[in-house]
Formats: sequence, structure tokens, C-alpha cells
Amino acid sequence: MSQKIIIVGAGLIGTSTALRLAQKGKKVVLIDKDFDGKPTSGNNAGIIAYCDVFPMLSAKSLLKIPFWLADPKAMIALRPSYAFKMIPWFYQLVKSTLPHNQKGVIEARLSLMETALPDHYDQIDKADHDTFIAKTGTYYLYQKESSFNADAHIRDLKQSYGYEPEIVSASDAYKRVEGLEQGVYKAVFEKDSAVLKSPSGLLKYLRDKAKALGVEFLQGEAKNIRRDAEYVHIDLASGDHLMASDIVIAAGAYSRKMVKDLGFNVPLDTERGYNVTIDNPPFKFDCAVIAKDAQIAISSLTDGLRVGGGVEFAGINAAPDYGRIDRMIALAQDLFPSIPNDRGVRWMGCRPSMADDMPVIGRHPRDRRINFAFGHGHLGMTMAAVTAKHICNLITDDKTNVDLTAFRVDRF
Ligand SMILES: Cc1cc2nc3c(=O)[nH]c(=O)nc-3n(C[C@H](O)[C@H](O)[C@H](O)COP(=O)(O)OP(=O)(O)OC[C@H]3O[C@@H](n4cnc5c(N)ncnc54)[C@H](O)[C@@H]3O)c2cc1C
Repeated sequence: MSQKIIIVGAGLIGTSTALRLAQKGKKVVLIDKDFDGKPTSGNNAGIIAYCDVFPMLSAKSLLKIPFWLADPKAMIALRPSYAFKMIPWFYQLVKSTLPHNQKGVIEARLSLMETALPDHYDQIDKADHDTFIAKTGTYYLYQKESSFNADAHIRDLKQSYGYEPEIVSASDAYKRVEGLEQGVYKAVFEKDSAVLKSPSGLLKYLRDKAKALGVEFLQGEAKNIRRDAEYVHIDLASGDHLMASDIVIAAGAYSRKMVKDLGFNVPLDTERGYNVTIDNPPFKFDCAVIAKDAQIAISSLTDGLRVGGGVEFAGINAAPDYGRIDRMIALAQDLFPSIPNDRGVRWMGCRPSMADDMPVIGRHPRDRRINFAFGHGHLGMTMAAVTAKHICNLITDDKTNVDLTAFRVDRF
């Protein structure tokens, strides 16, 4: 029997998994429907936010959602035509925020976050560490006293896990972050988090590394997954047919249909995000910046100055609404007035978002040949390397020091 492992999806999760498996001598085929496209993994804010153990929403912040949705200027939006389809997802979201469930979510996230950064370093050659990762921390900027106070419980929680958020006055924040000139009530600096200097550069680097170790790259769209006693079969849209001893589904937001064909109806949808990347920017800084009230990130990358974020619920296929980017620029200018209006490359990407804000990492409960690695939401860059390590260990039967039960595909 051929021992070929097929990975569907060459974003950062699939590519990192391919690399790890190749490093252990496995024969790997990495398939992607569009290697030359602009996947979510190559165009995000690049923050390795491993201190973000708290999920995006709590029971308290859920109450704000109707107000955000009613405000046309807010950075969270739900297209009316898609609202009905989101109901099961929102139902699972609400369930996950109940205090006893949220405790489990936080502990599970922490179990991944503990090695998220070292696992990134592990898959990059030592000489290249500084090219791709800067351990320069993140500034959270608060424009309102009320929002600063509302996040006190998150700071307390992070502190209880050993991270040390530092409260910074507005005047100090202006001195420390180039280009930041106005609008800050207070900032919080988390020295522990890190930044990927170029998400697209890292993706290319890891793909090249995997290729050099013999990973076969195959352009094709996986349409259907079937199983028999000997092989897992993948039918491609082209009509071609592949056979594998093991597969990994790592197709980001596009994984839901494949997983459904295998019998699991997971609450995976997409929180679409937007950004603009401006080359030759008027200023540069080396940390990450998140404007909490505006719900946007400003990243000074080697790819350019990237302003973006926000959440739009509209499904994978709806046409982008690039007008959202004009609003993001205006919000960023409230803090960084020299950000230009009229330059840059605009982009929309699909976060693969599970309703409970936890990825699916693990095996099919009744078929050990099938593995799942998707649904990393806002933290796919942060969790890519640690996910790849665990999936690789499952396939090679090596010991994994984290209990992956909380991430199983049939948890709903
Ligand atoms: C605006 C924005 C900012 C973000 N900022 C951050 C951040 O700062 N830090 C962080 O940790 N995360 C961030 N994220 C989230 C992060 O980018 C994602 O979680 C991550 O990229 C998901 O990686 P992935 O490999 O699962 O999916 P993707 O990168 O989407 O890759 C999936 C791949 O699968 C391929 N594919 C899909 N269907 C098929 C098929 N049927 N057959 C073959 N191939 C297929 C696609 O072509 C694609 O290449 C951000 C996201 C957005 C949108």
C-alpha cells in the first residue's frame, strides 16, 4: 500500500504540516486550488498573538452585537441576505460563551498558545529567525475610558497566566509608536507577543522549504473525499483522482463542505476581514498595534503598512465591499493622521471561524487516516506551527503532550 499523505490546502496550516511531515521522512502531496492566489495566510496582520487566550467574545460582549450590527460605520457587519444562514453558528457561539463553557475554551486555547511561538521558530532555520519574526510586542490602543475599563478582566486573566500587560499613558504611547499622534486614552503594551514581518514571505519560505524536502505541489480543487478499506480517495474538479494512505483537511474557511461529506456538520463559517497595504509608508514601527475601539490592526510589515481587520458575515462567495476599507482608513487616521487615503493594495480574506473560537485539530473519530486542521479564526497565523506539530505527531504516532480532546471534530 502506498504511504502517500495528501494535504488539502496550502495556507500556513497546510504548508507547515507538509513541512513537518517531510522533515520526518514522509511522502507528502500538498494540493491547492490556487497556489498563485492571495490566501488569508499571506495577507493578514501577522501578529503572533499567543497571549490572546481569551476568545473574541464573552457573554457580556455578546450584548453589544446588535448595536454593532445596527451601526453602519461599525467594523462588524452582517449582510442581511446571509443572516438566516448564520443562525446555527450564532447559536453555538452563544453556547460557547456561557461561563462554564468559556472556562474550557480558555484552558484549551492556552494549551496551544504555550508553544505557539517556539513552534514557529522550530520550523524556520535559525539564520532566518530575525527575517521573519520580531519579538517586539503589541500595543492595544484605547480611545475611550469605558472600553479600557471593560477589558480589565482580560488583563487580569492574562496576568494570571503569567503574561505582563503594561499600562502606558497616552503621551508615552505617542513617544513609543512612530506615527501615533492623537486619539489615545490609554494603551496596553504586551511585550510577550511577536510579529511576523511578512506573512506572504513566510508562506513562500515554508513552501520552498517543503518543496526542497520533496513535498509534491499539485494545483487542483478537491471536490469529493471517499474512503475504502485500502485508501482515502480525493476526486478533483479536473476529473483527476488521487489516492492516499492518510489525508489532512487544511482548507481554511473552505473546509466545511469536505468535512460535511465525511459526516460532520461543524459550525464553521467565515468572518471576512479587509485591509489595505501601503508601500513607502510615511512611518514605520516594529511592534504590532491594535486599535481596540475601532477594531482594526495597524501592522508595519516588510510588505508595507497594513491597515485592516473588522468582521463581515457574508459567506465565502459574496463580492467584497471594499468601501469598508475607506472607513478603516478613516478610523486609523484618528490615531495615525499621516496614513494616506488614496494609496495601497486592497484585499479581502476569509477567516476560517468556528463558532466556539477554537480550531478543529485531530483525527476522524472512526477513521485514523483522516485528519482535520482548520477553523483557526482570528489566530491561524499564531497557531499554524503548533497545529502542524500536533497533526504531524498524530500521523507519525509520536507522543503529543497536549490533550487534543477539546479540538475534536465531533464536539458539537
Ligand atoms: C484581515 C485579517 C487579519 C488577520 N490577522 C491575523 C493575525 O494578526 N494573527 C493571526 O494569528 N491570524 C490572523 N488572521 C487569521 C489567519 O490569517 C487565518 O486564520 C489563517 O490564515 C488560516 O490559515 P489556513 O491555512 O487555515 O487557511 P488559508 O490561508 O485560507 O488557506 C487555505 C488554502 O486552501 C485552499 N483550498 C480551499 N479549498 C480547497 C479545495 N477544495 N481544494 C484545494 N485547495 C483548497 C485555498 O486556496 C487556500 O490556499 C487574520 C485574518 C484576516 C482576514
